[in-house]
Amino acid sequence: MSLMRAHGIMFHHFHGGSHRRSQGAVGADDLEQLIAFVGRERILPAEEFFSRAVRGGLRAEHVCLTFDDNLRCQFDVARPVLEKYGLTAFWFIATATLNGQGAEFEIHRSFRERCFHGIDDFHEAFFRAVCSGEHCPKVEQALRSFDPRTFLATFPFYTDADRRFRFVRDEVLGPSAYDETMRSMMGESGVRPGDLTRDLWMDEDCLVALHRGGHILGLHTHTHPTRVAYLSAAEQEREYRDNYMALMQLTGRTPQTASHPCNSYNAATLAILRKLGIRLGFRADGALADAGPLEHPREDVACILRRMAECESPSSPAISLGTSR
Ligand SMILES: [Zn+2]
Repeated sequence: MSLMRAHGIMFHHFHGGSHRRSQGAVGADDLEQLIAFVGRERILPAEEFFSRAVRGGLRAEHVCLTFDDNLRCQFDVARPVLEKYGLTAFWFIATATLNGQGAEFEIHRSFRERCFHGIDDFHEAFFRAVCSGEHCPKVEQALRSFDPRTFLATFPFYTDADRRFRFVRDEVLGPSAYDETMRSMMGESGVRPGDLTRDLWMDEDCLVALHRGGHILGLHTHTHPTRVAYLSAAEQEREYRDNYMALMQLTGRTPQTASHPCNSYNAATLAILRKLGIRLGFRADGALADAGPLEHPREDVACILRRMAECESPSSPAISLGTSR
């Protein structure tokens, strides 16, 4: 069911042109159909959503469009559709990617999409790699009590296999052991790092063009850690300050909006964002009933596409869509 309060619609990957089809990626046609399904008149331009949010003027039916992670496919595929409909959106940018750094998980995703025959093939290779390494006993033990029904329960589009993978990646291995596993898999495959990042990120020219086109650029940390809440307050502050300075340099404006990478934040994060003057922030779900100004709900595009498919053919089973994380 759709969220019954003002919210953002959250997009990550798109396919079309030079951008290949991949798990959870959305096409220009899907975006157009989604705009019609949601209702063009409900979708506020970014500036209007922002000013209404700040002065308390949002109504339950209002939505906005949000694009996370500085992906070039968003610029190439989604932006022309937005232009066609006279829409502007929020773009949450992890700025280290402008120098080809950070957001390792996107490079991992690219590896997964280009070097395996589907997600099951990747999961199998991943667990084989884990089980041949030093982390095997810890992972086996954790999986004995793992229940996919209760993990990431607010994200209905994940399959059990997705949940098992994300549990091991985020809760059992943690970033450094996971990165090490992926590095060894990529090393063994012989793939060249340059092949994995081609066409992946927007560059500074794209961001300046968005800013001049009336879109709003917001914070998403500098290097996009997958678990911001596990970082110390000092580390979090560095992430958001670097991000803030990089965006300000590009646009000449102080950023006033943010979205929480992988929905991860804590009280320290919110205090840092307030200190930086951020006035509107977004979660990655709609799970919080009593959300503050830095915790506006969002609905993943995968959930809306699923509802669209159910409306079209109510008797057919729901399609399964994943997202980039
Ligand atoms: Zn992100």
